[in-house]
Amino acid sequence: MKYYILFGPPGAGKGTQATAMVEKYNLHHISTGALLRKEIAAGTELGLQAKALIEKGCLVPDEVVEAMIENEFKTVTEVDGFLLDGFPRTTAQAEALEAAGVEIDKVLLLEVDDNKIVERLSSRRECSKCGIPYNIVSKRPAKEGICDSCGGELIIRKDDKPETVRHRLEVYHESTEILKGFYELTGRLRLVNGNQSIEGANEDILKAIGAQV
Ligand code: AMP
Repeated sequence: MKYYILFGPPGAGKGTQATAMVEKYNLHHISTGALLRKEIAAGTELGLQAKALIEKGCLVPDEVVEAMIENEFKTVTEVDGFLLDGFPRTTAQAEALEAAGVEIDKVLLLEVDDNKIVERLSSRRECSKCGIPYNIVSKRPAKEGICDSCGGELIIRKDDKPETVRHRLEVYHESTEILKGFYELTGRLRLVNGNQSIEGANEDILKAIGAQV
């Protein structure tokens, strides 16, 4: 089983790149953000707890996301590997993965400038049904407001409001960016220029992992 991590600031293009990678390499995509949004939509107790934190741009507690990851590893078996998107986001979460004996093959860090992030997230849309990300400037759906894949309605995420985006960026720089050093030490880190086009970043990602898969 292969394990890949895609990390980077909010709006770096993790979800978009993940969609391309999972198809190519038969990986199971685990987006902790998408799993949390599903819990919110289903109105579960976990969803109710997470909703306020997510809408403020704060992280949900480590134990909550760690349990979700553990559950996905246990229940999904018919794949060649896992692609973690948005996890780990703290040193404690990275240590929990190590403690569980998960051997990460590659950590892909999508680096994007802060000013570009704010600009990108103001034009981001997401399918309300299947969660596929779109962008009304750079990744338009064939029919305005409608998901190409499932026909669901495209919506603006509540945490993509400019003031929430700024807070999410602060949280990224304070709590998540430190993981760059953590994974650099293991020799598994690969830097990808996320300022370039979707296709350019995708090519770089495939080069970084291609020889392995
Ligand atoms: P994302 O879809 O990855 O941008 O995540 C959306 C929101 O879900 C984040 O801003 C956090 O509030 C929460 N979240 C997602 N993944 C994690 C994580 N690994 N640890 C803590 N909170 C998370």
